[in-house]
Amino acid sequence: MKIMVSACLAGENCKYNGGNNRNEKVLQLMADHEVITVCPEQMGGLPTPRVPSEIVDGVVTAKDGRIVDGEFRAGAARCLEIARREKPDLIVLQSRSPSCGVKQRYDGTFTGTLVDGAGVTAQLLMQNGFRCLDVEELVGIHEGIVIEKLRLEEKELLKFFLYREAENPGWQVRWRET
Ligand code: SF4
Repeated sequence: MKIMVSACLAGENCKYNGGNNRNEKVLQLMADHEVITVCPEQMGGLPTPRVPSEIVDGVVTAKDGRIVDGEFRAGAARCLEIARREKPDLIVLQSRSPSCGVKQRYDGTFTGTLVDGAGVTAQLLMQNGFRCLDVEELVGIHEGIVIEKLRLEEKELLKFFLYREAENPGWQVRWRET
């Protein structure tokens, strides 16, 4: 299976503050699969560290007031280009990011308030038919992987690929009732 993943989840220090969002569950999922890491904000030309940004009335804006919409959308376009070329089976993205957030993002007031909606990269990928999963939807346990709070078709997609590709007989896929 080929997986595209937010680079910060894989431990790359590409977060706005120079840190990462290394996630053991994601690393577990990545094991034995081909992985493509992307950081759309860096790919759009922004430095690390950088001033945090939010989507303000549809325009990505840094906390210091600078408009960074062009950089964010350039990074999103680059990710779409890579996704079209590489055809990943699964895309797993960091939660709540103005780029990578799949289901929620901050509301543009820089007050920590969340609203429903995707970041610019996740939105572009989904608009172009790529299924994106929020990393918080993946819950790893012991030898297997529990996938919870996914829509039925997402569960079926993951089940198909995990059963098809998992060569480790210890792997199990179990479903938690939601
Ligand atoms: S743009 Fe995405 S990959 Fe890059 S640091 Fe932000 S959440 Fe992580």
